[in-house]
Amino acid sequence: MSFNEGVRSDSGRVRSGGGRRAAGLGGGSLLAVVAVFLIAQFTGVDVSGLLGGQEAEDPATAQGVDLSHCTTGADANAHTECRMVTTADSLDTVWTQVLTSQVPGVAYEQPGFMIFQDSVSTACGGATSASGPFYCPGDKTVYLDLGFFQQMETDFGASAAPLAQEYVVAHEWGHHIQNLLGTFQAHDSQEQGDQGAGVRMELQADCYAGVWMNHASSTVDPDSGEVFLRTPSAEEIAQALQTAAAIGDDRLQEKYQGHADSDTWTHGSAEQRQRWLTTGLESGSVEQCDTFAADRV
Ligand SMILES: [Zn+2]
Repeated sequence: MSFNEGVRSDSGRVRSGGGRRAAGLGGGSLLAVVAVFLIAQFTGVDVSGLLGGQEAEDPATAQGVDLSHCTTGADANAHTECRMVTTADSLDTVWTQVLTSQVPGVAYEQPGFMIFQDSVSTACGGATSASGPFYCPGDKTVYLDLGFFQQMETDFGASAAPLAQEYVVAHEWGHHIQNLLGTFQAHDSQEQGDQGAGVRMELQADCYAGVWMNHASSTVDPDSGEVFLRTPSAEEIAQALQTAAAIGDDRLQEKYQGHADSDTWTHGSAEQRQRWLTTGLESGSVEQCDTFAADRV
């Protein structure tokens, strides 16, 4: 349970596709894929060159996820793929209104949203499921493999509860908002460290995800007249926060390299990610998400 059941969405809003990995990626590449994963997971910024050339879509096996049955909030509550459709719809509506009311002069523009399987070609280069969800500024598109939600639970011990999944999508949407606001151009998102520009960029995307959560439970779906999201319970919020923590740099580094090194962080610690998601959730304010103005994040 997450969305109000009568909410109506257009399943055509989300594209679906991708292809199986082309031959050539043998077991020897597994380590490389894991390394790429650690770098790219949740960057949401740019995976260009990371896998370029190694992966290609094979049109013969191209496949998509069927979204045609995804038309209502009830469908979104019942099926993960449909949850993506309604989440996108609510993000479009919420951000249209939030930008209009809070950032006059910047018009909302819908990003693309592609659900892929196995591998996908993007303006940022080729990517696989191992990249994790990401946003490519070059084609203004959010890419996500639904298998990531399973991975969140099994590999990271994160919650894959509905609101936690929606947080993941809303975080990537946050990077699109940054693109519209010119934030990418103003800062060097490659700068590492727990106070670096890269971490500030990611924490801001977490905060923007919170802004969506704040407004989605009061924003009306124009197609049905129903409010998109039911007001999240304390438990649902805790699940989203638990996911934000589980994908914190400190947790991932401790898990995969045995120790955390804050100088190399790119996304922020568990505590930082939870705190900025909460800031967005409680304030609903784009201005409060200005991680670049903060002395420390
Ligand atoms: Zn990100």
